[in-house]
Amino acid sequence: MYDAIVIGARCAGSPVGMLLARRGHRVLVVDRATFPSDTVSTHYIQQRGLARLAAWGLLDELVATGVPAIKHMTVSYRDIVIAGFADAINGIDVTYAPRRTVLDQILVNGARAAGAEVREGFAVRELIFEDGKVVGIRGAAADGEVREEHARIVIGADGRNSFVADAVGAQRYHEVPAECFVYYSYFSGLRTDFHSRIGVGEQIGIWPTHDDRTLVAVMRKAEAMPEFRADVEGNFHAIARAIVPEFAEELATHGKREDRFHPMRYPDNYYRQSYGPGWALVGDAGYHKDPLTGLGISDAFEYAQLLADRVHDGLSGDVPMADALAEYQRERDAKSHSSFEFTCSISTLELTPQLHAVFRALGGDARYAKDFFAMIGGGMTGEEFFAPERMAKLLGASA
Ligand SMILES: Cc1cc2nc3c(=O)[nH]c(=O)nc-3n(C[C@H](O)[C@H](O)[C@H](O)COP(=O)(O)OP(=O)(O)OC[C@H]3O[C@@H](n4cnc5c(N)ncnc54)[C@H](O)[C@@H]3O)c2cc1C
Repeated sequence: MYDAIVIGARCAGSPVGMLLARRGHRVLVVDRATFPSDTVSTHYIQQRGLARLAAWGLLDELVATGVPAIKHMTVSYRDIVIAGFADAINGIDVTYAPRRTVLDQILVNGARAAGAEVREGFAVRELIFEDGKVVGIRGAAADGEVREEHARIVIGADGRNSFVADAVGAQRYHEVPAECFVYYSYFSGLRTDFHSRIGVGEQIGIWPTHDDRTLVAVMRKAEAMPEFRADVEGNFHAIARAIVPEFAEELATHGKREDRFHPMRYPDNYYRQSYGPGWALVGDAGYHKDPLTGLGISDAFEYAQLLADRVHDGLSGDVPMADALAEYQRERDAKSHSSFEFTCSISTLELTPQLHAVFRALGGDARYAKDFFAMIGGGMTGEEFFAPERMAKLLGASA
């Protein structure tokens, strides 16, 4: 009998397993994947997320892998360009975009080092219920052997198509349809900083990553996918030319594509009911938003910490488990609300008139641009950044 079983061992699952094991609980983490392995995701991490890794003692290991430091960011909307970088956020004055093959392995190692049992190549097929409460899992190892395990709580950290959510019938709320699709790949021969640039109905993201590669991603509105697919390479370069011509030139002359294109039609934005008798959800399983603002990994870390703290309260008997889990969901929703709204709004690739005026003003104001990058990096909430009195000052100064 375990105290907790965690299904999924990536950005949300391994940290939850690690944190519970560090508090002395008996933890099993399972994943049908084996590690190191990749997953469909670009991988810019906010300074807020890096600060979590530092607090957990895992950041030095990541930096030692040679992931390039990003110290300058350019965000643009059509002709408005906002460039700069945030002041240090919780002591973190750089950011990184590590390959998931590297990051997820560090997280899995962290869970193991904390004393959690991590079972790779193990696919969960069923939840075990007793009197309406989840009490365990049934699944198969890579060799086909079926195993049953029991725990006081089963945590679904199993991503946006969460098996656990389906098995317990967890309902979605606050759903916002996705707007875009993405194609991304890895290139050698380029020297760039971080770029997130929005053109007319399309976007390009550029991040330096491991092994002297640059991750280049283009996004377009979903209805353009069939047309894009007809000539992926040509359309990929055409979007770069339309939005950042100088980069497009470098891409065409010096960039060598080192990987296939990874496509995805973005899943919808949503929150999900994230707890019930004997179960909880964390990471994308419980709350998912468009990748445009690069929140997913850092949110997975932040709410893994929050869930581990609340589950510890429940397991130790300090607070009834149901109350502890309700508090987890309440706090997660309250904390993430403004960034969720901002993400849904900007992922239309069409700024509202108010946001357009704010971007225009930011383009000419280095001090406020720093604060904007603090919001992007997770050092300031949307409520703080967009506070009416601050916006009045910014817009007044630019009038
Ligand atoms: C195209 C794209 C680009 C993105 N770019 C960024 C970015 O730049 N920055 C950022 O912060 N976020 C980004 N994100 C979001 C980020 O990838 C996710 O938020 C993050 O991976 C969520 O982590 P997770 O642990 O919740 O889920 P996942 O990473 O999806 O991991 C879930 C794990 O559960 C396992 N699993 C599922 N079902 C079972 C089962 N039945 N049995 C056993 N194991 C199971 C899977 O094998 C998997 O390993 C992007 C996402 C996409 C799709």
